[in-house]
Amino acid sequence: MLAEQRRLLCDYGRRAAALGLVVGTAGNLSVRSGDLVAVTPSGVSLERLEPESCPVVDVDGRLVEGDLQPSSETPMHLAVYTATGASAVVHTHSTFGTVVATTMAELPPVHYTALLLGGTVRVAEYATYGTPELAAAVRAALKDRRAALLANHGGVTIGHDLDSAFEATRLLEWLCEVYVRAKGVGEPRVLTEEQLAAVVQRALHPPVFPRRED
Ligand SMILES: [Zn+2]
Repeated sequence: MLAEQRRLLCDYGRRAAALGLVVGTAGNLSVRSGDLVAVTPSGVSLERLEPESCPVVDVDGRLVEGDLQPSSETPMHLAVYTATGASAVVHTHSTFGTVVATTMAELPPVHYTALLLGGTVRVAEYATYGTPELAAAVRAALKDRRAALLANHGGVTIGHDLDSAFEATRLLEWLCEVYVRAKGVGEPRVLTEEQLAAVVQRALHPPVFPRRED
């Protein structure tokens, strides 16, 4: 069941561990296919994941296949799927994301690529891991965004597939690192609404380079 999705969970789980985005058994990923969700198991280090150890649950959180329990953050993943059109969710405890999530109410856009995540990244109010309260806070923080930070906890990103959700996690961590390092040098300049709108216009109308005729 969901063999391809479970294989992808392992590939990206191992990449997340190799890149240092998670430590120990922290972090969890999931992929949705119709009414079913393949998710990483509870208590297993992402660097040691195997496809057959990844449980499959339905969107109501009932175990459909697998010997291991689904990740304790599965309620958060399911809440995100219910509230968004996402097909994949990645949650990590990456260092700079957690630094920002521990000190700030939001990550302001200091670099134009923040637009790829929807602009300012909100920090969801703190709640105990695995609880419906945390799931609700994350769902609210993700409104019209592809990323959210979880106060004193980590970050979560969504995508139309696991690759896009994973790349959003890497971008979120990079943006947080830039912000934190910039803060060490001076007060980071935040891009204005006008500057961000100009970026959107530029992306909509890329330059066309004429071909040389000779
Ligand atoms: Zn977590």
